[in-house]
Amino acid sequence: MRWSDFPKWGRQVADWTARYHEGLRERPVRAQVKPGEIAAQLPGTPPEEAQPIEDILADFDRIVMPGLTHWQHPRFFAYFPSNAAPASVLADSLIAATSTQCMLWQTSPAATEMETVMMDWLRQALGLTDSFHGVIHDSASSATLAAVLVMREKALNWQGNAAGLTGQPRIRIYASNEVHTSVDRAIWIAGIGAENLVRIPTQGPLRAMDPAALEAAIEADKAAGYLPAGVIACTGGTGTGACDDIAATCDVAARHGLFTHVDAAWAGSAMLAPEFRTLWAGIDRADSLVLNPHKWMGTQFDLSTFFVKSPEDLTRTLAIQPEYLKTQGADGIINYSEWSVPLGRRFRALKLWFLIRAYGLDGLRTRIRNHVDWAQALAERLRAHPEFEIVTEPVLSLFTFRYAPEGAGDLDALNADLIQKINDDGRIYLTQTRTQDKFVIRFVAGQFDAEERDIAMAYDVITEIAATL
Ligand SMILES: *Cc1c(COP(=O)(O)O)cnc(C)c1O
Repeated sequence: MRWSDFPKWGRQVADWTARYHEGLRERPVRAQVKPGEIAAQLPGTPPEEAQPIEDILADFDRIVMPGLTHWQHPRFFAYFPSNAAPASVLADSLIAATSTQCMLWQTSPAATEMETVMMDWLRQALGLTDSFHGVIHDSASSATLAAVLVMREKALNWQGNAAGLTGQPRIRIYASNEVHTSVDRAIWIAGIGAENLVRIPTQGPLRAMDPAALEAAIEADKAAGYLPAGVIACTGGTGTGACDDIAATCDVAARHGLFTHVDAAWAGSAMLAPEFRTLWAGIDRADSLVLNPHKWMGTQFDLSTFFVKSPEDLTRTLAIQPEYLKTQGADGIINYSEWSVPLGRRFRALKLWFLIRAYGLDGLRTRIRNHVDWAQALAERLRAHPEFEIVTEPVLSLFTFRYAPEGAGDLDALNADLIQKINDDGRIYLTQTRTQDKFVIRFVAGQFDAEERDIAMAYDVITEIAATL
């Protein structure tokens, strides 16, 4: 295939894309294939000869499509959403077309300068003070790793990268059990060790870390000769949407000189709407914060935004300048590869530029408000049903529930059966979690094109299938 053939196939793919999205409601949300079914249709050896693009595209429809779970389906209520607003898909096509590698300012000045401005747009849109400086990462996992590395280096007086951890006091990091597993992995990768991630008990309806318990844990560790380095709080934990009290957490951390990182990977996008910001009250006192516009805001995967108070601390931890990366003579520039673990970077800021302009902050806010309202209305309908119970109350558009008809025996097994049958049915897609020692079903609204009728249909499917058990 040559560039001269591109318009023909490009138009075909563009038409396919629009048709695909418009027809999603006709497809089962979760892939309905068995393990190995797709691989069995792929030749075991690669072709020696070039093959026609029409054959490749036809095989895409025939082999690949049945094996996709449709994350852009308006009735995708599983995990957290991973959106792809059409304007951001358009931007991503241009990113692919130019395929610039944006590690340094000079490797594409527009990408760096666009990123600086987009991060400032987003900062303002989220109601954050201008003490935060943003950078785009591939994932919240990478951003949280960067935050943990900064915690480690600060606590070790910048000696960790140089001298390693041998012979140093044991670093301690504090978080509740509600934080995402990316926190555990950041602790492993940073060489701190899972045993030094101290779990703080939670309290209250939002399952927030108990500040008194946090304080006591830090004091006990200090007395035992450990080196407390930082606290990781969450706004919208993955299982049930737990929210730490950011102000109270920062109070404790500040008293002990600890770095505070806030993981708001999913819920952060909701902060476009001022009425939700009470969930992270005190955020301006955190040292860093991550949220994924690729989850709920609408830019397609991947685009995670990391805000830090001190870019100096971040670059002191991560920047490295061999001769071949020096940018001679260009003063006052930012090389964003010094703000993250990977060197290479895509031009992701373009997706935010297209998204925010094409929908306006108001359009993005309206979608999020709708998702919250519709999810809460569904929770009320299920609560009113005599055989269902709401296990954790809605946090934004996430709640958990279970089917608990009178006289039923093992409710965990019953709900595992229910969710399996719902997902095999295909009209909606849900996932599960454990909370309060119960197997519960999670419901999250957040797909960009979802309408009220899609969330309403969830009620019909859930109650209809439950009645057949
Ligand atoms: C999804 C999620 C993550 C992980 O995000 P990635 O971008 O996939 O690394 C981390 N924390 C929370 C709270 C999440 O919801």
